[in-house]
Amino acid sequence: MPKDQSNESTSTEGIHQWKKNAPYKIHDTGKDFKVRYEASCHCGKVTYQLSREAPLDSKLCHCTTCQTQHAAPFQWAAIFHKDDINFTKGHHDLEWYDPTDKSIEHKLPCKVRCSFCHSPIMDEGRNMILLFPTLIHFKNDQEKKNFKPRCHMFYCQRVMDIPDGLPKWSGLNNSSDLIEDSPPEKIVELERQRVKEQDEKSKKDKEESKK
Ligand SMILES: [Zn+2]
Ligand SMILES: [Zn+2]
Repeated sequence: MPKDQSNESTSTEGIHQWKKNAPYKIHDTGKDFKVRYEASCHCGKVTYQLSREAPLDSKLCHCTTCQTQHAAPFQWAAIFHKDDINFTKGHHDLEWYDPTDKSIEHKLPCKVRCSFCHSPIMDEGRNMILLFPTLIHFKNDQEKKNFKPRCHMFYCQRVMDIPDGLPKWSGLNNSSDLIEDSPPEKIVELERQRVKEQDEKSKKDKEESKK
């Protein structure tokens, strides 16, 4: 083994490849990673940092899988790139669950929890992570505001109404219908976009049929 290897790579010698890749790889804080938020699971064995000021998106999911997995009426998730997170403790001691296959193997997408207190930490997707902001230690109201939910999804499966004026999707956001008290301008915008897509599609079909 080459002498110039750091302790980090020596200690991860022979372990699974996933520990070396984002979102589990260790960042060089201060250098390639500016710490903006600190977070921990309930027992504190798993801790992480975030470098992005605001999530790419923040949403509330009302699907029955989230209800069961979180033992809550709905789930609050914030989307980040896999490189935005830096685990500082316990990330070698996680457990996974894939609700589709009901499997505990690490294959994407899957749910990630602390293996000691079982707090849900994030959903690891193929390209992004959806982490649960309830684990973040917000230092002020503005920080919390950065994570404010921007929409509801799978609202059809809800256990209660939330009349907050946010967009409400029947299924996945941007690929289902806006329902209930969604903002009217959002509904108009979605309708326009669908008409445009339909026009483009029929134009394409016509061109195809000419060939
Ligand atoms: Zn824990
Ligand atoms: Zn869900």
